[in-house]
Amino acid sequence: MLLSETCRFKLEPNEEQRLILEELVRSYQEIVKECLDIALKLGITSRKRMHENIYRRLRTKYSNHPSHYIYTAITQALGIFKSYRRLLRKRNDIKPPEAKNVKSILLDDTHLFWFYWGKLRLATHKGHIEVPFEVHEYAEKFKDWEVKGSRLVRLGGEYYLHVTFRKTVKENTPEGLLGIDVNERSIDLAIVKPDKVKFIKIDISEAKYIRDRYFKKRRSIQSKTSGKTKERLLSKYSKREKRRVDVILHKASNMIAKIVDEEKVIPVMERLKDIRKRIKYGRRMNRRLHNMPFRKIQTYISYKSMEYGFEREFVKAKNTSKKCPICGGLSKPNGHVFKCKKCDFKADRHLVAAWNIANKLQMCRPLPLAAKALYEPLIIEVRGKG
Ligand SMILES: [Zn+2]
Repeated sequence: MLLSETCRFKLEPNEEQRLILEELVRSYQEIVKECLDIALKLGITSRKRMHENIYRRLRTKYSNHPSHYIYTAITQALGIFKSYRRLLRKRNDIKPPEAKNVKSILLDDTHLFWFYWGKLRLATHKGHIEVPFEVHEYAEKFKDWEVKGSRLVRLGGEYYLHVTFRKTVKENTPEGLLGIDVNERSIDLAIVKPDKVKFIKIDISEAKYIRDRYFKKRRSIQSKTSGKTKERLLSKYSKREKRRVDVILHKASNMIAKIVDEEKVIPVMERLKDIRKRIKYGRRMNRRLHNMPFRKIQTYISYKSMEYGFEREFVKAKNTSKKCPICGGLSKPNGHVFKCKKCDFKADRHLVAAWNIANKLQMCRPLPLAAKALYEPLIIEVRGKG
């Protein structure tokens, strides 16, 4: 399995280097602009045609720049042009893209940058420069990964290096499955192994409270302010909300990945489009659930489990919350409780769903103790602070 992840480093250029970077970003923007103009004018999407049309001229014009900047600028311009065309097919009120919005330089080539821990060596129009940066704690884990590509990003007058790292992970042999049911207030887990069934409820209700609180806050900003102030406040609060919710989601998915590692189980989740379909509440409910970061949670869980050598599986969501895991009969859950009409089995509906999700991959009969385990789930609360 191939893992890849991007990490950001803040560059600390001296004054002279800062000027060089400024010039570099500016001329790179101009190069991208020329490529983009040609792409828009002639409708070019092929790298070969673009190269034929523009390379020689740009090479002469920017003769003091390493030629690979022209290659990566072409890549970037083609990328922008293609996504513009894709959007245009869906809507016709899209403005043509502008190169002045390009704030990053693609360094997708070993000819342009050399990454060292704490130092970036960069080919520029003024020769090679070595810009130091601080290696934060989080980045330590990438020390045995391979450097794949990179971008130089200018943001608020500062320069950042976005580095994509890659690592091959050996696949582990699974001993069972982990059914995962994601809800607004909890992530419910069913560990299903040949000799063991165990249930865990991870309480993420704080994420829900945060989202509710910020929703109210945003609504009050909407009605009480206007113009630039409104824009600024809305963006500030939505960033803060995202950050706070993210802390909880990361903690929860870390816990789940640890369980995956300890129990040696394959994480099994419902397909995202099925989850959305299943959720058919009133409009108010819909608004909230629609914003539920299901995709994020699933991505985090998948990603972190991969680091331990277990690749996630997706299953269809059909009947996961209606089927009785004991007798197979179908009953509608009522509130948070599932009660089987056929055999009277009764339990927490989310734990039942988690169990059903795991069972979708493997036809295994319920173990004698499984129902009992369902009544004694381990409950873990995830909080943003602490
Ligand atoms: Zn039943």
